[in-house]
Amino acid sequence: MKKTILSGLTALLVLAYHVDATDLQPGTSVFGSRQFIEYIPGSLPLVISAPHGGRERPEDIADRINGVTDMDANTQELANTLAEVILAETGKYPHLIVCRLHRSKLDANRRLQDAVEGNPDAEKAWHEHHGFIEQACQDAVAKHGFAFLIDLHGHGHPDPRVELGYLHDAIDLADCTEALDEATYVQRSSLRWIVEQHGIRHSELLYGSRSLGALLEQAGFPSTPSLMKPVPSQPFFRGGYTVARHCQADKNVTGLQIEANRPRLRDTAENRLRFALALTQSLRTYFKINLGYELGTPSATLPTAPLHRAAE
Ligand SMILES: [Zn+2]
Repeated sequence: MKKTILSGLTALLVLAYHVDATDLQPGTSVFGSRQFIEYIPGSLPLVISAPHGGRERPEDIADRINGVTDMDANTQELANTLAEVILAETGKYPHLIVCRLHRSKLDANRRLQDAVEGNPDAEKAWHEHHGFIEQACQDAVAKHGFAFLIDLHGHGHPDPRVELGYLHDAIDLADCTEALDEATYVQRSSLRWIVEQHGIRHSELLYGSRSLGALLEQAGFPSTPSLMKPVPSQPFFRGGYTVARHCQADKNVTGLQIEANRPRLRDTAENRLRFALALTQSLRTYFKINLGYELGTPSATLPTAPLHRAAE
């Protein structure tokens, strides 16, 4: 193991929750302790995490008492379908990190003390979840120069649109375009790296014609912020702990939180497949026009190993 300039405790913590890179094969699962966290390494600069779709409720981990404990139904399955579709459509694997613990045991999209409420096994899983995301992003940056993280969730808000969280709330997004393009908003944005490295206006990325929201709408899934609905209705999820922690411009990581509505999107396997196809198509365009990156085309020599399937 190489000595790094990382100091003492930080280095130990980071290394303790990473898997030796030589053990990683795109498309082959590795697991954290007790298989609570699954990481399927990829070869694309695309990292997908699903923190709230887990179904495992081990009796020896007490239920959390505070905060939200309901799962985001079918988001584990949606993340798996998305990864399969991306593989089929590009010939390459995205990185995929899935928390298999139920949210009543671990909320991986919260800071540690709120996430685990003192349980040591849940705490270990929390470190592994974020360690795998960090490792995936670092691998993508080393190979491609950047990582694009999607933290995938499901919401039950009255407005049945896909909510796109860039760390700006609905009040921020109601500000004028000129203000949103200024440094004060850009510096707080999960899109900061794209704005600064690719010279694209922040507001264009939030709700212009090149925004993910606009592209998803073209593909048949109403979204916000977007061309059609630049300012979300409230309640609206702005993006949480995971996006704020990992989407750091100085680490060349960008991305967003995607909150999928349930009706006509994640309620059935057929609808999850429809959305996965639409999102893959949208990401293909988004990567090309905003990141200068070609996601790839369906390969004649697709890997044959299926992605690990959690029980539905
Ligand atoms: Zn969630």
